[in-house]
Amino acid sequence: MTQINVGILGATGMVGQQFIALLSRHAWFKVAWLGASERSAGKKYRDAAAWRLPVALPDEIANLEVQPATPAASAPQLVFSGLDSSVAGEIEGAFAQAGHTIVSNSRNYRMEADVPLMIPEVNGEHLSLLKTQASRGWKGRIVTNPNCSTVVLAMALAPLRQFGLNKVTITTLQAISGAGYPGVASWDILGNVIPFIDGEEHKIETETKKILGCFANGKVEPHPVVISASTTRVAVQNGHTESISVGFDHKPSEDDLINAWSSFKALEGLPTAPAPPVVYLRERNRPQPALDVDRGDGMTVTIGRLRPCPILDYKFIALGHNTIRGAAGVAILNAELMHREGLL
Ligand code: NAP
Repeated sequence: MTQINVGILGATGMVGQQFIALLSRHAWFKVAWLGASERSAGKKYRDAAAWRLPVALPDEIANLEVQPATPAASAPQLVFSGLDSSVAGEIEGAFAQAGHTIVSNSRNYRMEADVPLMIPEVNGEHLSLLKTQASRGWKGRIVTNPNCSTVVLAMALAPLRQFGLNKVTITTLQAISGAGYPGVASWDILGNVIPFIDGEEHKIETETKKILGCFANGKVEPHPVVISASTTRVAVQNGHTESISVGFDHKPSEDDLINAWSSFKALEGLPTAPAPPVVYLRERNRPQPALDVDRGDGMTVTIGRLRPCPILDYKFIALGHNTIRGAAGVAILNAELMHREGLL
């Protein structure tokens, strides 16, 4: 098959680097264009980016010249975005207006009523929102993926909707790579827990409801579940751990919950879709970022420690790789689904 050329906006950042690592071995997509800020534009990628991944930066990417983040004839039709959210709204909008398909990690368009906020295994049908997006008059389109901690939560909750999921409390322990590079100063994070991540709790409480919602009559009806989130940053490099309690209309058994996670279906035929997408670990001390974050090449969410909750019905721990399943990996999976649906 002929590979499809793709671009990456925000290519020098943490998420941008993860895009490069994942796409450099991708069967369908080939990185042909890199965009970043004026600080990086005009430099070779190897000089512009502080490469921080434990895989070699491919030579053909290292030698690409970073371009300004403005729509240009040289930019491919499909562009992934890992732009800082302070600039993503304007830049992604300009690319969509100019005819590009933007598959974005940034928060700016996620909650717009006509923009799909997607995790393909959970709500691939939300792609139908693109029909309503056509009325914006853009020549292109924007599809988004959730915030990194929301992805993990939504994947853990999606199989539980069948039991009348009605209440969720969550406390996160989020990795430093979630704050970009250089992110949090070592002075602030070593031997410490920071009980505040700007905007994160609101994102978890709102984005999850949209993702778990139903698509009907041309719009997404948010799921009625009520969510209370507390977020913390911890001294872990990769992997967001989440302590979650859940309440239901019809209380299931522990086995029902484990069966629901274990039978959550993988997407077949998409190169980045892991099988299975969710794994329940029966060991008493799992999941752990050091041991489980790379499962399914970073695309599998691991769950463990299911037990009764004296306040809601049950509690458990979930873990996912924040820059792969929570960012670049899920965005690539979104683009793979769009390609299969004939939307690229
Ligand atoms: P990051 O490491 O700080 O990278 C930000 C990127 O944006 C860099 O490539 C930077 O280019 C570019 N940029 C900054 N200002 C710009 C400007 N004025 N014009 C054009 N480009 C500009 O951040 P990150 O962690 O990769 O996050 C990127 C986005 O993904 C954010 O919106 C974040 O919220 C979201 N996200 C992150 C994660 C995660 O786990 N890290 C997960 C999900 C979603 P220069 O290098 O040239 O400055």
